Amino acid sequence: MSVGVAVLGSTGSIGSATLKVLARHPDRFHVAALTAFGQKELLEEQAATWQPAFVGLVSQAANRWGTGTECLVEAVSRPDVAIVVNGIVGAAGLEATLAALQAGKRVALANKETLVMAGELVQRAAGEGGGEIIPVDSEHSAIYQCLAGEQERTFSRIILTASGGPFHQWDAAKVSVATVNEALKHPTWRMGRKITVDSATLANKALEVIEAHFLFGVGYDQVTAVVHPQSIIHSFVEFVDGSVLAQLGFPNMELPILYALTYPERLADEGVTRFDPVSAGPLTFEPVREDVFPAFALGVQAGRTGGTAPAAFNAANEVAVAAFLDRRIPFGRIASVIGDVLAAQDVVAADDLETVREADAWAREQAARAAGS
Ligand code: NAD
Ligand code: MG
Repeated sequence: MSVGVAVLGSTGSIGSATLKVLARHPDRFHVAALTAFGQKELLEEQAATWQPAFVGLVSQAANRWGTGTECLVEAVSRPDVAIVVNGIVGAAGLEATLAALQAGKRVALANKETLVMAGELVQRAAGEGGGEIIPVDSEHSAIYQCLAGEQERTFSRIILTASGGPFHQWDAAKVSVATVNEALKHPTWRMGRKITVDSATLANKALEVIEAHFLFGVGYDQVTAVVHPQSIIHSFVEFVDGSVLAQLGFPNMELPILYALTYPERLADEGVTRFDPVSAGPLTFEPVREDVFPAFALGVQAGRTGGTAPAAFNAANEVAVAAFLDRRIPFGRIASVIGDVLAAQDVVAADDLETVREADAWAREQAARAAGS
């Protein structure tokens, strides 16, 4: 029977990669719902192609379509939706993830920000509703694949790989005044603007450390990151006996998306370039330069602190990145805005959605002030 998929953020980088994957497997899946924030014309085109039963446009009303932020929860709650691909960027994706998990559905999660801001709530929603999260983030998909078939609790360490972004070899002075165009030139991945900047500051890797903590139940001493500029090895897992597994491939999000849709099965797919070790070339590794990319350590520290600290880290980062993309603050200020906000925060336990939302709103206000707007 064909499985109904809701694609949230269908006009974005993850959303369009998801539709490409689904187009190759029409017998297996159908698109049951599509949502986007804006880009009405592209959404109209997608709706005409896929004929989903539900379409939601958050930013404006449109004939016969759902609208407003509530359309996201409406999309995932439909009985014909079994899998939700959450490709929304930022905190806006949280309620949809919670609602899908509460309703017992599979969430193929790209929207890491929401797991970072409300990891405990997301885990609770999955526990109560019987839903499951399968990661789409390439590193976490790699770890998931390395752990498949292993007995629980036999791994001892996760090593996340990081491309290092466009500035991995730049000196600190040059990085601090990098331009928007320079930050948006990612060496190995084509992605949305926000995550591309996160990859340049390494805030993305901190978000991913926290993501790994919640997805795999690991302590922060068991997750490290290493710069691997070729983005061929998508992460490593070390086991208690010292053995290390890794998952490899040319960088292409269609692979982790397909795996999240079909897990625990693997489906034959000729759509992505097959791996070739010779053309992958030499694989190199470097330590993360925490002094040059302070957003990384700030994020990991927020993860260790726990409670509402990760929500504040995420919110401050979202505001600072938007200010940088608007050319209101220099690149180097992104991390210091985050640092200012975290230093001023009174961290409390993140027990309910209201508390998380409050911490998010407070951090956004503080960050906007620190960014001078
Ligand atoms: P993108 O900017 O290309 O697309 C974002 C999508 O979310 C768009 O469809 C947009 O309409 C929608 N959206 C934005 N704001 C919204 C709001 N307030 N409410 C509802 N919808 C909204 O971003 P992307 O690169 O596709 O990234 C999406 C998510 O996936 C991010 O969390 C990112 O960290 C994660 N991710 C992306 C990649 C990648 O290769 N692009 C890889 C790993 C993880
Ligand atoms: Mg990633």
